[in-house]
Amino acid sequence: MNVVVCIKQVPGTTEVEIDPKTNTLIREGVKSILNPFDVYALEEGVRIKEQHGGKVTAISMGPPQAEEALREAIAAGADEAILLSDGAFAGSDTLATSFVLAKACTKIADYDLIICGRQTIDGDTGQVGPELAENLGIPFVAYVSKIEEIKDGRMRVRRMIEEGYEVIEMSLPGVITVVKEINVPRLPSLRGMAKARSAQIPIWTAQGLGVPMEKVGLLGSPTRVIGIFRPQRTRRGELLQGSLEQQVEELVDKLRQAKTV
Ligand SMILES: Cc1cc2nc3c(=O)[nH]c(=O)nc-3n(C[C@H](O)[C@H](O)[C@H](O)COP(=O)(O)OP(=O)(O)OC[C@H]3O[C@@H](n4cnc5c(N)ncnc54)[C@H](O)[C@@H]3O)c2cc1C
Repeated sequence: MNVVVCIKQVPGTTEVEIDPKTNTLIREGVKSILNPFDVYALEEGVRIKEQHGGKVTAISMGPPQAEEALREAIAAGADEAILLSDGAFAGSDTLATSFVLAKACTKIADYDLIICGRQTIDGDTGQVGPELAENLGIPFVAYVSKIEEIKDGRMRVRRMIEEGYEVIEMSLPGVITVVKEINVPRLPSLRGMAKARSAQIPIWTAQGLGVPMEKVGLLGSPTRVIGIFRPQRTRRGELLQGSLEQQVEELVDKLRQAKTV
């Protein structure tokens, strides 16, 4: 089983500033971390490799510093890592991002499974996984909380839904996004950290991937951020008076008026 794990480097703080001209995050000088959900995706990839053999390849589309996240992936057990980086990718929305990731997977070619996190903690859309599967024309299952069986080119998974879980069987190759309930990630080993330090991480550019310029960056991104703002905190506390019974009655009235009950 050859597994590709898609990982993204995200700001490690909520205290990020927005560029008022471009409506994009100012990432310079902000500490970056590996997207927390992608840590579970990586761990699952490594567990599959340990059970079924094969290798884990981590890929990330991002600026040059995203290489740090890829080294973390190697320390966590990935066998190899590839950085997809090019000035032409800047400003890409989820459609353009998933297009580039799909091109990279096509170039990797010998994959059986692609694992993504359920969402990032910055863009937060959860769109990249399903769009990636759509671009590749292969099956997709979201919110996977357990891989039950992998056998004869098929995989049976549990996916989380509001009321419980569904069991789904999919053919491989396919794409899944995973939730944090799927595993408990291990800590990087000393051997892994040493391997990560010396690993060669190739950089694949737009040209190397055969990506047309009109499919990436702002040109290839139909999404436009037309405004961005910090939500105002409007906490209006109110103390209810009277006996406990009166207070409860008044509270229920208010909740009814607000149509919350
Ligand atoms: C108009 C516009 C301009 C933008 N410009 C920029 C910009 O200049 N720089 C910038 O960094 N962002 C930019 N973004 C944000 C960028 O498009 C998204 O962060 C990116 O498409 C991923 O979307 P998401 O974070 O919602 O991922 P989700 O769909 O929530 O991610 C789900 C999973 O997909 C995988 N994944 C997501 N992104 C990547 C990735 N890049 N590499 C590998 N795996 C990934 C991970 O496994 C992740 O857990 C822009 C967005 C818009 C709408």
